[in-house]
Amino acid sequence: MNGSSFRTDNDLTQRLYDRAMNATAADIAAVLGAEHLSLDDFATLLSPALDDAHLEKLAAESARLTRQRFGYALSLYIPLYYDNRCVNRCRYCGFNAGNDLPRVRLTADELRAEAQAIRQQGFTSLLLVAGEHPESSDPEILAPLIRDMHEVGFRSVSIEIAPLAEADYRTLFTDAHLDGLYIYQETYDRALYAEQHPGGPKRDFDKRLATPERGAAAGIPKIGIGFLLGLADWRRDAIELARHLSFLQKHYWQSEFSISFPRIRGAVGVAGGPSPVTDRDFIRLLCALRLLFPVTPMSLSTRESAEFRDAVIPLGFTNLSAGSSTAPGGYSAKRPELAQFEVVDDRSPADVAAMLKKKGFDPIWKDWE
Ligand code: SF4
Repeated sequence: MNGSSFRTDNDLTQRLYDRAMNATAADIAAVLGAEHLSLDDFATLLSPALDDAHLEKLAAESARLTRQRFGYALSLYIPLYYDNRCVNRCRYCGFNAGNDLPRVRLTADELRAEAQAIRQQGFTSLLLVAGEHPESSDPEILAPLIRDMHEVGFRSVSIEIAPLAEADYRTLFTDAHLDGLYIYQETYDRALYAEQHPGGPKRDFDKRLATPERGAAAGIPKIGIGFLLGLADWRRDAIELARHLSFLQKHYWQSEFSISFPRIRGAVGVAGGPSPVTDRDFIRLLCALRLLFPVTPMSLSTRESAEFRDAVIPLGFTNLSAGSSTAPGGYSAKRPELAQFEVVDDRSPADVAAMLKKKGFDPIWKDWE
């Protein structure tokens, strides 16, 4: 790593949080007329005083900036779950070790069959996902799997698995052409993090927090961060996320960082999160982040409903999953009992692409152009 690492800062976050909670309608109007936003301006846009007229203006500006920087292209990707075993006990996740769920690890042949089924739908960008288990994240096992995915025809392969050491990321990047890493902090609130992660190695808050830096130091070109919407006070997490992303973009400019917006969904054996985020606040968060980070890619998953996705995609998103299954082997056969969480938008990739074209967007199935 480059010697400098991101730290949460309670005092600064509290100051920005106070600004968010106390900003007036006049403060918001002033920020909406500004050319470039500061962190203070971003906090202002999180204010409870934001009314419908402000939100409309914020959404219009966010959509305008997104078209200006990204045009009408929207990249499509698909997650492939290869192992639902997990040693952690995250309270909000169907894969947690205490949940009585059938556990499946795809063999290399099964994974290849799943990948081929996905490839035939047109995708060339793949996200490999697994619970935290020594075998699912061992680079000796993972590197050949990633190479297999390239052989099947995927041009871009990313992972969303347990945090690894910098040397392991380097191995995956240099030996298997790993293109991307997605790692969400879940929440930046240490006390709530400890409460929501009662067992397993994921309890190590700081190790997880430094993961994007280890990935970037290892040379991984694309790194996605985010927090789990519905776990903590979304305003505090939004402020910490903005600080975190600013830090990463400043210190690890060789990698491209993106933001995802996973919102907690129910799953077999687990309830939703303790602090639900409304659709209105989801939209406001997306648009405020777009104003602060005009050139940062933003991803939307199938956790959201078709109606909601259709409405928010034009406002700021650049990457989209489609046709997802969150169960290992879920593309060859429907296996809802193995799923991590409920997929809400269950349209086929072809239907999502057709919807995008109808709205004037250009669905991109490949990530390298
Ligand atoms: S969120 Fe990840 S680490 Fe936690 S239980 Fe689920 S799969 Fe395991």
